Amino acid sequence: MDLTKYIRNIENFPKAGVHFKDITPLLGDSEAVASCVEQLVVLIGDKKIDKVAAIESRGFFFGTLLAQKLNAGFVPIRKPGKLPYKTRKEPYQLEYGLDALEIHEDAIKKGERVLLHDDVLATGGTARAACNLIEQLGGEIVQCNFLLELEFLKGINKLRSHPVQSLLKF
Ligand code: 5GP
Repeated sequence: MDLTKYIRNIENFPKAGVHFKDITPLLGDSEAVASCVEQLVVLIGDKKIDKVAAIESRGFFFGTLLAQKLNAGFVPIRKPGKLPYKTRKEPYQLEYGLDALEIHEDAIKKGERVLLHDDVLATGGTARAACNLIEQLGGEIVQCNFLLELEFLKGINKLRSHPVQSLLKF
């Protein structure tokens, strides 16, 4: 199934000049969601995955479905102050200013094989910070896996050390 038609372009969101890819039409269609999960699993191939780590918040939608499908545990990577237990924190650069991500320090054990998932790879800063957190805990990143990649932003350059797979490329 071609999922492109379920991705809606929103001009000037969340601010002027940004062309936002809205995945909610995809989420609203159960057949499209099922096909999307199947297609993401194909990107992973036969690699063994212990944990699927996904980035708040849109990464959680398919991250949990993927984890179930792969018989892997799910690890939420969240914005600061959201996770209740002891955390590791990784700051990253936004276009204007800094943001950060956190992970529970016991979420991944040393040597566990981790799939990082998010909905969109744009400039790559968010995914790079998430990779750093996984690696701080001793996780081995098997693949960075995205629903869609905005190729012109070259986010893949920030993830050079890891295999990157995206279902759709714009
Ligand atoms: P980056 O750090 O790669 O520039 O931005 C990626 C993060 O921002 C992801 O967590 C993603 O959810 C969000 N993001 C950036 N641009 C878009 C977009 O056009 N559509 C959606 N759905 N998310 C985006």
